[in-house]
Amino acid sequence: MASSSSATAASDREEEEDFYGGGSGWVEARTTCEHLPSLSSDLLHIPPPGSDCTRCHHPAENWLCLSCKDVLCSRFINKHMLTHHKVTGHCLALSYSDLSVWCFACEAYLDAQVILQLRPVYETAHLMKFGATPPVQPIEFLQVGLQSP
Ligand SMILES: [Zn+2]
Ligand SMILES: [Zn+2]
Ligand SMILES: [Zn+2]
Repeated sequence: MASSSSATAASDREEEEDFYGGGSGWVEARTTCEHLPSLSSDLLHIPPPGSDCTRCHHPAENWLCLSCKDVLCSRFINKHMLTHHKVTGHCLALSYSDLSVWCFACEAYLDAQVILQLRPVYETAHLMKFGATPPVQPIEFLQVGLQSP
């Protein structure tokens, strides 16, 4: 009778720690902003996402000034949007990287789907960037879809 004892069960179970909420960067967007009157009156015609910074020609992740529709790079590149705000006082900017709207004066993100003045430019940018308008209130759309004749 052959007795083979091969018990080498090394169970080193590395427990991965979750760090959710530690540095996600997500902050709640404001639904009001007193600087909305400074928005451009024609936000249906905007430079396409992917436009270069008009100052240094940085090619990606730029911001659109919502007052004069200038495309300017972020504070992580050459700070041209930030400088533009300081020089001109224009404070509302749309990110072409994630389509979030930032108010420099409020120092807060604005909810472009809730604030009616921001919705047209948000939807226009979304359409140009993704080829479709954003899914606004999907539950309502679902209910409408279920009411088939
Ligand atoms: Zn730049
Ligand atoms: Zn501007
Ligand atoms: Zn503001």
